[in-house]
Amino acid sequence: YPGHAATDDALLERRSDAYSPIQGHYYARPPRIERGWREHLVDVDGRHYLDMVNNVTLLGHGHPVIARAAEQQWRLLNTNSRFHYSAVAELSERLLETVPHGAFDTVLLVNSGTEAVDLALRLGRAFSGRADVACVEESYHGWSLAADAVSTSTSDNPRANETRPPWVHVLDAPNAYRGRHRGDGAGTAYAHDAVIRIAEWAAAGTPVGTFIAEPRNGNAGGIAVPAGYLGPVYDAVRAGGGVVVSDEVQVGYGRQGSVFWGFEEHGVVPDIVTIAKGMGNGHPLGAVITRTEVIDALADQGAIFSSAGGSTLSSRIGVTVLDVLRDEDLQGNALRVGERLRHELERLADRHRLIGAVHGRGLYLGVELVRDRETLEPASEETRLLCDRLLELGVIVQPTGDRGNVLKVKPPLCLSSGSADFFVTTLERALDEVG
Ligand code: PMP
Repeated sequence: YPGHAATDDALLERRSDAYSPIQGHYYARPPRIERGWREHLVDVDGRHYLDMVNNVTLLGHGHPVIARAAEQQWRLLNTNSRFHYSAVAELSERLLETVPHGAFDTVLLVNSGTEAVDLALRLGRAFSGRADVACVEESYHGWSLAADAVSTSTSDNPRANETRPPWVHVLDAPNAYRGRHRGDGAGTAYAHDAVIRIAEWAAAGTPVGTFIAEPRNGNAGGIAVPAGYLGPVYDAVRAGGGVVVSDEVQVGYGRQGSVFWGFEEHGVVPDIVTIAKGMGNGHPLGAVITRTEVIDALADQGAIFSSAGGSTLSSRIGVTVLDVLRDEDLQGNALRVGERLRHELERLADRHRLIGAVHGRGLYLGVELVRDRETLEPASEETRLLCDRLLELGVIVQPTGDRGNVLKVKPPLCLSSGSADFFVTTLERALDEVG
């Protein structure tokens, strides 16, 4: 069938020989994709795929405005942020315009989400004067020593929960669908448990200096952090002298449609925001947004300098991404198309019992597949088969979560309603065959 016919086996073999397989690839026999346009990918045989996976390409593939801005900037100048040029100031100001006024006043630019998280943890440690960090189960925050230490997802590391360093403390995943507390009131119940744990860690001489969590559990499939959870947890950490980080790398930057930042949904304001992925539309770009006093705490421990972070090129691309996001009203599109998609997926759930829940908001959705709606037995094998079949039918989507039973739906924000409908129709066809 077409996707497989396009596979360039020899190239794949060269890749496996020369590039470490520890960083794997989608699909056992992936199509060879060399072009993209908006939410579409095109393989070397000219076959088109609907890309429901690329949240990094926030604006869409091959965006001409980004390509032009990048080319112009390359021709003019690309240097590091120790030089004086307009783009670094412009991007920092534009980022500060997106966060609550008065709560944040400064930005640091880096190259990735991992770097942003690593820096946030360093800042949290310096500002609170405490090494201990609390995070939640089933999360992913990056691959550096510190970011990996707070990454608890067993889909990335099957031994994650047995191998955390002693300064990392793990709270239950506040999952109101399949966790210990379910339904209405779950947020308050999880918060109650978390506040007790935080007090216990303090009593044991390991008070939490930094709390890091996503405002919506991205890695688990866009599963909501239930209302009433983050507020009390933030309060408890701060009351004990700690700071709180909202990791917005996955779910922030307008993707949820109704809000630009995920924390807004919870009526809370963190001390530190981390962001990357979509802010460069695929160009390596990340940021930490915080208060000057937090950064000042690190000042007597050395400077922070990244050779490419905040470079002329990266900053120019960052500004242009924000321009396009605004000019094309892509957050609005995420809201409109995302709601339509969610609605259609929920209707599909009425017809297909394999769909246990449709999680998420805007264009960050998770379709959780279960064998039994009472026991919630994960349909992990079926999810894998569905993804393989969807590839054959021209849709790229991947399983996520610790049980591998959630279809993670996070396409470029320019997704058209026609493409959303195509996704639902194709998923229905695949479910008829697999489920
Ligand atoms: N935080 C979260 C929530 C993420 O999902 C990721 C990447 N998936 C990261 C941090 C790390 O970002 P990067 O891959 O840019 O290093």
